[in-house]
Amino acid sequence: MSTVLGNFIGGQFQPAASGNTLENRSSVTGDLLCTIPRSGVEDVAAAVDAAKAAAGPWAKWSVAERADLLEAVAAAIEARTEEVAAVESQDTGKPHRLAATVDVPRAVANFRFFASAARQHHDGCHEMPGAINYTLRRPVGTVGLITPWNLPLYLLSWKTAPALAMGNTIVAKPSELTPMSASLLAEILHEAGLPPGVFNLVHGLGGECGQAIVEHPGIGAISFTGGSTTGAVVGRTASERFKKLSLELGGKNSTVVFDDCDLDKAVAGAVRAGFANQGQVCLCGSRVLVQRGIFDAFLARFVAAVSEMAVGDPSDPDVQMGALISVDHREKVEAYIALAQEEGGKVATGGERPRFGSPLDAGAFLRPTVITGLSSASRTSTEEIFGPVVTVHSFEDEAEALAIANGVEYGLAASVWTSDLGRAHRVSAALDVGMVWVNTWLLRDLRVPFGGIKASGVGREGGGHSLSFFSEPKNICIALD
Ligand code: NAD
Repeated sequence: MSTVLGNFIGGQFQPAASGNTLENRSSVTGDLLCTIPRSGVEDVAAAVDAAKAAAGPWAKWSVAERADLLEAVAAAIEARTEEVAAVESQDTGKPHRLAATVDVPRAVANFRFFASAARQHHDGCHEMPGAINYTLRRPVGTVGLITPWNLPLYLLSWKTAPALAMGNTIVAKPSELTPMSASLLAEILHEAGLPPGVFNLVHGLGGECGQAIVEHPGIGAISFTGGSTTGAVVGRTASERFKKLSLELGGKNSTVVFDDCDLDKAVAGAVRAGFANQGQVCLCGSRVLVQRGIFDAFLARFVAAVSEMAVGDPSDPDVQMGALISVDHREKVEAYIALAQEEGGKVATGGERPRFGSPLDAGAFLRPTVITGLSSASRTSTEEIFGPVVTVHSFEDEAEALAIANGVEYGLAASVWTSDLGRAHRVSAALDVGMVWVNTWLLRDLRVPFGGIKASGVGREGGGHSLSFFSEPKNICIALD
């Protein structure tokens, strides 16, 4: 049964001022899940007005009071894990089990973590001859949070929690493809006692509603996660208006496998890195580089493991891969598989749509795909596909591995598989990326810097980086004489 979602402005759910709506359809069955407001400039202006009206009283809450509220939000999400996971799985097509064991627990952890981080946060005091300096930390004011469809609640909570912890008010826009868990979050924040107007949510299209958020003069900072092409537009618009800006963008990440690795672990790690969330994680290892000596052995085991992955109904607990985000996105991914073949690649497994003989045949399913035989400089192996497609390449030595890994416009993450400690340090230091995992992938400590270089973004999130982004330090210098 479909629902009508509203914007959440000043503590009230409401339609767009224009009355216009957009349909949100399931990528699993094609059924209508809900309609959302197609918001524009007027709705964003109303959300900013509500956020401004709430800012003064909210900034007077003590850090301890704000942290207590974040803890209450974490507990409320945790108590509703099954419901939130069901919504997230329906909206994205990802397996329910993945949503219940990764997305929802991570949203809970985000609120708990930033409650604790805000309580511990402190700034320095600098004595000098005849004077003393100290730093006051103030909220930025009203901040704009814009998020993508792949990890909707996970990423919205990753921005909302530190923004609230530092005393900001929020205008948030989730992806129009996955609006449902953001509406649930608005409800949970409200029920946990967040004052009306502190968290406002506007639904709609990126070029209309998202653009209006980035342009609005009342919004002092933009935290954006999405594609690099969109990020360039957001960056231009925000920097012309002197806004604080955090851009977490795309990636084309290498999984670098040396011949001294633990092969079992490396194969399992490369499968997980390549295909988690249907390959739709910015950190996915979509190009696997394997040292010549173990190339054949690795490839045989990798292809066998990938071809055994269970693709199907996201509500089935045994399913490892659900549907992609939409049938349009699947077409984009399939176009890359066709391109790979034109570029001389060979599909070692996958490449086709599974057939279920059920309503799922209308869904955006695609078998996990491994492609070999491509040049590491080909378009398929250097452009972000953002789907279940991995290319595999061989290399001779460290220098060649680094040249291939660094030969892309992105610089987000990499994983390195080796049992040689010196090599692990050397290669990690020489990779042009923001994050390296050695003998693991996507193991996250929420205190560490998260983000990339080159076309993968500007700035870092995580721990103190997020608290700094969502606040303005002010130095006070007092003469002692
Ligand atoms: P997208 O760039 O199309 O959209 C992201 C968000 O921006 C959506 O809410 C969209 O409505 C909005 N938007 C679009 N145009 C806008 C504009 N002109 N002004 C303001 N907002 C606008 O990205 P997507 O397809 O939703 O997500 C996939 C991309 O996100 C991939 O490239 C992926 O790598 C990236 N991503 C990066 C990270 C990271 O942390 N680096 C995490 C997840 C996803």
